[in-house]
Amino acid sequence: MSETTVRIQDDLYEAVNGEWLKTAVIPDDRPSIGGFATLADEVEKKMMADFRALASGEKTSDIPEMKYAISLYKKVLDDDRRSREGIAPALPFLERINALETVEDLNKAAKEFLLDDISLPVMVGVTTDMQDVTKHCFIVNGPHIILPDTTYYAEDNVAGKALLADFSDMVRKLLKYTPLTEDEQKAYLADTLAYDALVAKKVKSQLEWSEYYKNHNPMDVEEVAGYVAPFDIKRLLKELYGDSAPSTLIVYDPRAIKEMNGYFNAENFNLYKHWLYVKKLLNCCACLSVELKTLANAYRRALTGVVSDPVLEKEAYRYASNVYSEPAGVYYGRTYFGEEAKKDVVDMCHKIIDTYKLRMQRNTFLADQTKEQAIKKLSAIDVKMGYPDNIREIFSKLVFDEEDSLLVAVSKIERVKNEDQLARLYKPVDRTEWQMPGHMVNACYDPFCNDITFPAAILQKPFYSLEQSASANLGGIGAVIGHEISHAFDNNGANFDEKGNLKNWWLEEDFAAFKALTQDMIKQFDGIEFHGGKVNGELTVSENIADNGGVGVTLEIMHTLDDADFKEFFKNWARVWCIKAKEEYFKLRLTNDVHSPGPLRANMPPRNFSEWYEAFGVTDKDKMYIAPEKRLSIW
Ligand SMILES: [Zn+2]
Repeated sequence: MSETTVRIQDDLYEAVNGEWLKTAVIPDDRPSIGGFATLADEVEKKMMADFRALASGEKTSDIPEMKYAISLYKKVLDDDRRSREGIAPALPFLERINALETVEDLNKAAKEFLLDDISLPVMVGVTTDMQDVTKHCFIVNGPHIILPDTTYYAEDNVAGKALLADFSDMVRKLLKYTPLTEDEQKAYLADTLAYDALVAKKVKSQLEWSEYYKNHNPMDVEEVAGYVAPFDIKRLLKELYGDSAPSTLIVYDPRAIKEMNGYFNAENFNLYKHWLYVKKLLNCCACLSVELKTLANAYRRALTGVVSDPVLEKEAYRYASNVYSEPAGVYYGRTYFGEEAKKDVVDMCHKIIDTYKLRMQRNTFLADQTKEQAIKKLSAIDVKMGYPDNIREIFSKLVFDEEDSLLVAVSKIERVKNEDQLARLYKPVDRTEWQMPGHMVNACYDPFCNDITFPAAILQKPFYSLEQSASANLGGIGAVIGHEISHAFDNNGANFDEKGNLKNWWLEEDFAAFKALTQDMIKQFDGIEFHGGKVNGELTVSENIADNGGVGVTLEIMHTLDDADFKEFFKNWARVWCIKAKEEYFKLRLTNDVHSPGPLRANMPPRNFSEWYEAFGVTDKDKMYIAPEKRLSIW
């Protein structure tokens, strides 16, 4: 990547990535390329070659679950059979939906529907209890909506209207393959849209979801039952758990439940039923013929600007490596990840945690008591690096019969996964479980475990390499590690203690001071124009706090290096965020992604730190200058 004539002092991102941006080509089957996506592409190429060799017998794996993954991979590849069967494998599922005449029929079928991924009027599931993260809880939610966010349903939202037209067009074509009459097809589509519009009035917006600490709303089961009637949630719980059915449920989206009568009731049962039919049909298509699958992806392509679906071999790899994510991730880690790199990056994590502690001690807006709690939380952070030692038992149970169609095989797998998930309710939380598999190019902080996960696949250039300078590694993976750790103290993470429990450990005035700083961060990003849209400062605040923290903490470590190269630090920070994307994708992300767009992630955090000004001699004449009193550094 060479540099263009754009001055780095005016636009770090463009100066570093400009040449690349000019020539980079977005693959037809991706919405974007650059940074994360380029690396993901490379990982995919390696893994696809391995899957091919494993399928042909040229290679073998000592991971037993990989044979199921390869068997599923072969099923996806078998387009002769998929074409021959057409829609047939989906019909038994669709017939079960069509057989519903009353809400009572639904109540009788609810448990089986839940296990077979046929949506109930409420979404239910088992997850970690935020109040006591050693335990699980049963959660209740409203349904998903068709458009990317509730804001798209506004009367004057042109994009929303266009997308609903794309969705309708797709469904119209798909319904022709079903045994429904023409009139029925029309009615099913109209009812689907009508039901979705009712749901959209009640469920949370992306902005509301972004404050996830607000999801913990315990409610007595009797109260929930009253709201969701005539759907019989008590009957469902009894069938699932017998006498030990939970008496308290956690309502993630209280309005969607309290006002459920606004979309689900006995009078409009047909709206729900037809919505359900269309939803399940769409859900099945991924496992039907390539023709149907391609049709059913039309809406997703319109949403993201992706030109075409991946070629069959890539689809097969993606599908199998996603279902058997842990075995595939362990395979990737054992094959491509070195112990030396692991040790080096784990050391870097500890150095970053220690530096955060120093910064916390020096902090000027927290009382000693709060600082102590914050340091306790930093000390408790666990690091998951590369890939897990063991593959969870569940993956050895994801089996199917050789003669099963793809859809039947996948349905059997989903059923086992669903049963396993529901059965966790009275089991302790397994804190050794990884949130991301080894072959995924990503990283995360888990607020309920207070741990960070760095899959093997992200530990490569430009993020990290043993051959790269320490400065480049700090500007790449270092700042990303700092970012993830900072999530422990962003506007969400700050509400959880060192074990991950939702608990207020702040002095009131300290929290108020922190809140004021988060408001400043909202202002720093809010309204910045980007590809015809505007950044929502509130939606992206937690990620912007994390980027700011990540850059700040690693810059401090830079001062301890003998051969620190601050220029290289900032350049590599800009490199990891390079992205070329379809316009549709950029627009979509502005409304539903909690991260700021890549170019802003590259350009905004540096200007808050004096090192940026010193490294490139940036002055008030340059575009990437902000006045000292406006510079922000929270952690
Ligand atoms: Zn983040």
